[in-house]
Amino acid sequence: MGLPARTPVRDVRPPPGRRACPRPPAPAACGHCAQENRLTQAGFHCQRCAHTAHADVNAAINILRAGLALRDAAQAA
Ligand SMILES: [Zn+2]
Repeated sequence: MGLPARTPVRDVRPPPGRRACPRPPAPAACGHCAQENRLTQAGFHCQRCAHTAHADVNAAINILRAGLALRDAAQAA
């Protein structure tokens, strides 16, 4: 499965995406980043705000936000 034509692609190297609580505006999420947020291979549980998610979904949200931040910065320049 490929990307649709003209889909922008960005090389994103976020901070440890699987350990960071997605930053607001995600509901009940705070941006806290700690190894302890990963209690299992698949599970994410923020030790500060108690946000829970599948680790892969959590990482995808963090990577998406990092990519959007790069896009916004590029558009602002
Ligand atoms: Zn949190």
